[in-house]
Amino acid sequence: MTTLPRLVAFDLDDTLAPSKSPLDPAMAELLVRLLDVTEVCIISGGQIAQFTSQVIENLQGASDEALSHLHMMPTCGTQYYLHQNSGWNQIYAENLTEDEKARALAVVERVARSLGYWEAKTWGPILEDRGSQITFSALGQAAPVSEKTAWDPTGEKKNTLREAAQAELPDLEVRSGGSTSVDITRQGIDKAYGMKKLAELTGIPLDDMIFVGDRLDENGNDYPVKALGVECVAVEGWPDTAAYLEELIPQFAPRS
Ligand SMILES: [Mg+2]
Repeated sequence: MTTLPRLVAFDLDDTLAPSKSPLDPAMAELLVRLLDVTEVCIISGGQIAQFTSQVIENLQGASDEALSHLHMMPTCGTQYYLHQNSGWNQIYAENLTEDEKARALAVVERVARSLGYWEAKTWGPILEDRGSQITFSALGQAAPVSEKTAWDPTGEKKNTLREAAQAELPDLEVRSGGSTSVDITRQGIDKAYGMKKLAELTGIPLDDMIFVGDRLDENGNDYPVKALGVECVAVEGWPDTAAYLEELIPQFAPRS
């Protein structure tokens, strides 16, 4: 890209904020400044409640005008929210059928139990129906980061579970999510799917976008965006993202 991006898209966990945690005030301020100069998307496997608690509630200072430039894509873009008339409105949601949900829930639980990965000590539910996605979180949604890291430091458990569940759900897609989570969706639903939807919805070509993520490695949940050919910026946490934005934002002329 020789010109500035018309849209900057971000992964959420470990890119804009620590996993399942609120934005740091410094990052919130940078996001508001970015919204003043270009379109911004946040795309994550997480659901809208997570966007609300981690991001929206921490953008208190942002004007309706600034928020109108924020595109929110929970569950990898199978849901899409825009700020209109002073509130966040769901523009669409592509949900799994009841049969798809029931099979996904049953298989992932059975496989996790048989592998010995069904933990007794958890922080919140292990299984979650996110509408367009079923999510397995080994230690529950609200597990502390240190516990998650300790549970599967190499990613081997998560990958074993993913492969075993995929074998039993050939018509669905089972993907590695966060550090201890596995997501089940329709086939072909990943962040690349969401980015393509975003290009259609906004009319902004993928070539004019930049994506920032912490898991652009081949096993990572951000990798499909890189494979799609979108220009990517790899970070290892929100401070990296903040440093990148400190460089990027001053290059834009303010919106008049
Ligand atoms: Mg991430």
